[in-house]
Amino acid sequence: MTLPRLAVRHLVKTFAGRRVVDDVSLTVMPGQVTCLLGPSGCGKSTTLRIIAGVDMQDSGTIHVDGQLICDTVDRVPPEGRSIGLMFQDFALFPHLTVAQNVGFGLRGRRDDGRVTALLQKVGMLRYLHDYPHQLSGGEQQRVALARALAPQPRIMLMDEPFSGLDDRLRDDIRDETLEILKSEGTAVLLVTHEPNEALRMADEIALMRDGRVVQRGSPYNIYNAPKDLQAAGFFSDIN
Ligand code: ADP
Ligand code: MG
Repeated sequence: MTLPRLAVRHLVKTFAGRRVVDDVSLTVMPGQVTCLLGPSGCGKSTTLRIIAGVDMQDSGTIHVDGQLICDTVDRVPPEGRSIGLMFQDFALFPHLTVAQNVGFGLRGRRDDGRVTALLQKVGMLRYLHDYPHQLSGGEQQRVALARALAPQPRIMLMDEPFSGLDDRLRDDIRDETLEILKSEGTAVLLVTHEPNEALRMADEIALMRDGRVVQRGSPYNIYNAPKDLQAAGFFSDIN
């Protein structure tokens, strides 16, 4: 059996006595996309922050390729986890050029060849010397993707990364982003509150509600055999 790239088991996080993340387990297989899907406030971002290592769980474990990276005793720091991050408001540095922004992702290593190859890959090579304010939202997104990929993370965590983009662009950027991540072999955990986005992008969906994962399965299964009325209702008003 293939080992999951990312395995999260029984994660719990409490804020002021409330279980915001309540026994969450999920996996991401190598080269695949798992979507953590659920309404606003259900605990998606908190789960992602714990996996990234910028927040700490009360209990539960996180493994990457079978290696324990975090329980409540041992903790690999965020930069040692081989995890990349893309957030909607994870802005580029305004005072750095496109190439310098991507180079920053290499964390102190200099590798102009890698920067060039990544910019080529995201279709932004001719904007090498431009500054972020000279780019459209979609173009900035591509540069952010190149920056996040620079250190060759084994897993990319994405928190509603497409929600700031305009409707016309969004589908194209989503598809392109997915293609690039797959070509790099990066496993993806994508957080979204949009059923459409999850159905379009996911190999597996973990449906979340009130801090709990209530159902896990393929998009086909989740859409066609929702576990209960509430899950069905969540998918009923998609266009
Ligand atoms: P989602 O990303 O699904 O919208 P979040 O993980 O951001 O949900 O938040 C889940 C719940 O936890 C919300 O009710 C939020 O107000 C609460 N919460 C998140 N972070 C904190 C915090 N640092 N302190 C207290 N409550 C928090
Ligand atoms: Mg959120």
